[in-house]
Amino acid sequence: KRTKVVDLLKDAALIGSEVLAKGWVRTRRGNKHVQFVQLNDGSTIKNIQIVFDMAKFTDEELKPVTTGSSICVRGLLVESQGKGQTCEIQAESLEVYGTADVESYPLQKKGHTLEFLREIAHLRPRTNTFGAVLRVRSTLAFAIHKFFNERGFQYLHTPLITASDCEGAGAMFQVTTLDLNNLPKDEEGKVDYSQDFFGKPTALTVSGQLEGELGATALGQIYTFGPTFRAENSNTPRHLSEFWMIEPEMAFYDITDNMDLAEEFVKYCINYALEHSLDDITFLQEMYDKDLIDRLKFVVNNDFVRLSYGEGVKILEESGRKFEFPVHWGTDLQSEHERYLVEEHFKKPVILTDYPKEIKAFYMKQNEDGKTVRAMDVLFPHIGEIIGGSEREENYDKLLARIEELGIPMKDMWWYLDTRRFGTVPHSGFGLGFERLVLFVTGMTNIRDVIPFPRTPGKAEF
Ligand code: ATP
Ligand code: MG
Ligand code: MG
Ligand code: MG
Repeated sequence: KRTKVVDLLKDAALIGSEVLAKGWVRTRRGNKHVQFVQLNDGSTIKNIQIVFDMAKFTDEELKPVTTGSSICVRGLLVESQGKGQTCEIQAESLEVYGTADVESYPLQKKGHTLEFLREIAHLRPRTNTFGAVLRVRSTLAFAIHKFFNERGFQYLHTPLITASDCEGAGAMFQVTTLDLNNLPKDEEGKVDYSQDFFGKPTALTVSGQLEGELGATALGQIYTFGPTFRAENSNTPRHLSEFWMIEPEMAFYDITDNMDLAEEFVKYCINYALEHSLDDITFLQEMYDKDLIDRLKFVVNNDFVRLSYGEGVKILEESGRKFEFPVHWGTDLQSEHERYLVEEHFKKPVILTDYPKEIKAFYMKQNEDGKTVRAMDVLFPHIGEIIGGSEREENYDKLLARIEELGIPMKDMWWYLDTRRFGTVPHSGFGLGFERLVLFVTGMTNIRDVIPFPRTPGKAEF
């Protein structure tokens, strides 16, 4: 059985024993007496060095061992003389699984730009950078499940195919089994969905929240963690067409409980990554962002600032700063505004509450003032909005009035309103965009670089 590179490098008890290592060759160098191969198997950012004594191997045998080829090596694990290496393998036998042609393997040289690597997203997981990012991503996904599991939340699976537009933003991908080139029409010329597999217009979900509320008002505390889809044509470093969202929903939580949970949650995840992925985070810091670990520790060790949207807007108006989008009471904040508050004004993460109801979704609990809702957005340095949440309107009449005021068709909402019709309770929840958390923890600057296969307008091939 093979031993993973991460264990070869860590487990001192293995020194002096015969081991089997399998992986992909990063580099080979040496002379006619001895050849050194750096082998990586994806289990860690580090490589294990394989030493080939050329008295035991022929040049012909080593010839296919080039950058990107896959090999299996049996040999003795010994302490290394070279600096920066703890141990190395003295090769006794070699098997080459697959070659990688020197002319055509695109990851030949080091130091490709992130832009170039996006063009070869199918191969970039084999680079140090994407190995590190994807391991941090996996660590964070595990931390999320661990956090909620430790607190007694149930993991609820919400549907991806749905007929309801939760955010009311109208940015949904249509799902149909109809022939798009030959759509059946009714007498008025409208598309006749009764012939569709789903019998009505359906789409991919933008959020699992509405179904999450059904779960919370039965199980008490739930979270979702799954893909969501938004057909918004935004080409920004913070938006994807397909992204993963974590949405906890809690019965009997008010907005303050909700803020407390959100703050505890993100701090927990960042701490967990610092503990379990420090090698990868350190590599990313050295490569791209010298302040990364300081920034992560700073967020974990400081209380987030909490203030109302109104107070936040006042600070922005009085800042004297020329923003690309001017800001006044009623504007939806852009990343430039959010980052000003966090990075320049408070120099701490910020939770803004009590937004104008016009710029927030229909389900949020209305305040007494008739103008604002109990929303909360968590704003982070380097990112802007990382979490959006709220206390939900639990009063049936008020919720119905708001739905009617906004002209949302009632026939789509009767099932959701039943949560308020039968045994309604105060409840709250929030949504964290998983890739924004991964962006923050890895210090990467473009969201396309923290998901294995990014989907953005016009990009869905691999
Ligand atoms: P933004 O203002 O950045 O467009 P939003 O307010 O439209 O975000 P919400 O509907 O509040 O987003 O969704 C909850 C969370 O999901 C956001 O706080 C963010 O972390 C994440 N998110 C939203 N849209 C996207 C997207 N297109 N790509 C990646 N993450 C997203
Ligand atoms: Mg948006
Ligand atoms: Mg927003
Ligand atoms: Mg939001």
